[in-house]
Amino acid sequence: MADFKHCSLLLECGKCEIVNYLDPFTFWFFDGKVKCAGCGAIWRVKIDNGARVSGPTEDKAPHDKLPGFAQSKDYKTKITDTTKVNPPVMARADFVGKPIPIYKSIRGKPVSGGPLKAEDLVGSRPRFIMEGRHK
Ligand SMILES: [Zn+2]
Repeated sequence: MADFKHCSLLLECGKCEIVNYLDPFTFWFFDGKVKCAGCGAIWRVKIDNGARVSGPTEDKAPHDKLPGFAQSKDYKTKITDTTKVNPPVMARADFVGKPIPIYKSIRGKPVSGGPLKAEDLVGSRPRFIMEGRHK
């Protein structure tokens, strides 16, 4: 069986042996308590610049953060319940824009682009501004 005890960002629970994945985005610099996704045990860990400095040592609730993902050592049980693990950080969650208009070619294949209508140009800058010169 694999041994995960020496990986800084993998927290193997000493009680239920679930491997909790501490995602780097959240846990690269971390000093606090993580709740095991398998059994709910609270573990205190300190991670500095991606390396575990101390822990895991058992602690009491409340926890500070949830692991990003968890699974059993044999990889058969995967925990994705968002009450037990944090959902992944989505890229550009704040993006609000218009989708690129998609048209179909004569053969029925989707192609992007096409003749723009006046409303498609709202908010866009004239080309000479983008290029920094007049034509
Ligand atoms: Zn556990």
